[in-house]
Formats: sequence, structure tokens, C-alpha cells
Amino acid sequence: MQELLTEIAEAAAANPDKGNVATYIPELAGIDPNQFGIAVALADGRVFTAGNADVPFSIQSVSKIFALALALGRVGDQLWYRVGREPSGLSFDSILLLEREDGIPRNPFINAGALVTTDTYLAGSTPREALGELLRFIRAACDDDSIHMNEKVAKSELATGHRNFSLAHYLASYGNLRASVDKVLGTYCHQCAIEMSCRQLALAGRFLVDAPRMPGLVSIERRRRINALMMTCGHYDGSGDFAFRVGMPGKSGVGGGILVISPSRASIAVWSPGLNKYGNSKLGTEAMEHFAHKTGWSVFGVPHGGEGAHV
Ligand code: GLU
Repeated sequence: MQELLTEIAEAAAANPDKGNVATYIPELAGIDPNQFGIAVALADGRVFTAGNADVPFSIQSVSKIFALALALGRVGDQLWYRVGREPSGLSFDSILLLEREDGIPRNPFINAGALVTTDTYLAGSTPREALGELLRFIRAACDDDSIHMNEKVAKSELATGHRNFSLAHYLASYGNLRASVDKVLGTYCHQCAIEMSCRQLALAGRFLVDAPRMPGLVSIERRRRINALMMTCGHYDGSGDFAFRVGMPGKSGVGGGILVISPSRASIAVWSPGLNKYGNSKLGTEAMEHFAHKTGWSVFGVPHGGEGAHV
């Protein structure tokens, strides 16, 4: 495994096309695209890393996994009256389907759906309390109390987040937000501004791995469902392509991070800030394709000869 990760990090460093860093959140625009990290937390407790695996980055939409787990913990299946479970086939911040579908977002991972999820775990609390609960969940998942939010990134997104404000107002006009638009956006932008390294994120993702000794933060059924949504909706309109190339559930963020779950084997985090045309990490996606090819890991079956050379 260590050999493979080193090989992947070297391939990333040698690749001249790093993709384009997101610029619509000004605080993220200045990030050096020449960074790449990967970490694998195996079900047996071992952790392997390569590259800049201990450099914290803005997890952005990867936070939507933890937010979904928290919202489901609050209201259970009631959530599905307010948000769907289908891929949107549109970009992460699209407003198009909201009008046609009466203010019910397609899934909890596009921005409109994530705003409903945030509104759900925010219900009955102040933003500070709700964000405290989210941080406690993530810290428990990775057993690391140092995880925090970057106030500058949150403020930067709040100051320029016109599309997210539009989405929230649109949801509110259909009665699909309980808290005020300002409260929901303030909470959402702070949630997205959580910083983690690949090592921390891989450890935090273990609650989605089906193996003994993994943090039991959600029920088995919920874990399977979150994985299913990651597979079908975790990469926006690039979700089909990621499933085709990697064959494992994953969730990306515009900060360049991707959390990938091999459901009974491992939690994997990869990060490189340059994005592809879908807004997902370019080198991160390529690295995961390389990883899946070499290990043979896929939810669609094992290759001939067993589990793959590197396992
Ligand atoms: N905070 C980002 C936004 O709402 C998250 C998008 C993403 O990571 O894909 O625009």
C-alpha cells in the first residue's frame, strides 16, 4: 500500500495539468495548485499516507456527508420529504430544477439540498450550537479534537455567495427552509470552511466503513444509504464519470478534497486543489482511478486472482 501511494503521489507531482483552482470563493483562489496528498485508513486500523497528507485544506462540500449524517440523526426519514435522492445532472449550484420540482432539491449533496440539510440540523439551535454539534461529530469520527473552522474562508464565501443566497431564498419561497436565510447561510458557510488534512479526513470517513472497530456513529442502514448517495450524487454532474472510473462511493469539494469509501475495506482521502470541468479535484480523481486500478477495489466486484496486488 505504501509503495502504491508513493507511486500515485509521484505521478501527481509529474503531471503538468493540475486543473484550475476555484476562484469564486476569494479566500481559496490563492491556494498553490502544486499540492497533492493522499491517506488510506484501513479497516484493520493501519493508516498509510503520501505527499502533503498532513496539510489542512478547506473540506467544503465533503462536509455535506457529516451534515447529512447529523440531519438524519435529528429527523430520520422525515428528511426525505424535503430533499430527494436522485442525481441532478447539473452543476453543484444550479437553480434550474428547483422551480420545476417545487422547491424540493434533487439530493443532499448539491448546494440546494445541502442548504435544506443544514436547516434541518440547525432546527431549534443557534448556529453556534449546531456547528458545535457538527464539529463534535467530526472530531469523534476521527478522534481528533483539533479540527476547526477557518473563519476567513467562511466570511469570504458569505460575502460573495450570491448564488447560495439565491438558492436559499428560492427554497424559502417554497416553504422549504425553517430558519432565516441569513442563519442558514451563515451556518452553511462555516460548515464548508472546516479544515482537515487527508489523514484526518480518511480517519473521519471510517464511520462509513462496514468493519469491526470502526466508529459506530450511524446505523448500518444509514451508512449504506449515505454510501449509495455518494456513489450516485457525490460528484455533481461528474458522478457517473467518477463511478465509471473509480467504482467506489466518493464525495468531492471545491477545495480539491475527495473522500472515497471502499465499503468493507477502507476510507480514503485525496486532495489536490486544481479542479476539472465538473468542479471536482482533477488530480484527485486521476489518483483515485490509478488507486482503484492497482488495488482492484470496486463495489462492483473483485478482479480475478483476489483482492489485488497491493492489499
Ligand atoms: N461552499 C461551496 C459552495 O457552496 C461548496 C461547493 C463544493 O464544495 O462543491 O459553493
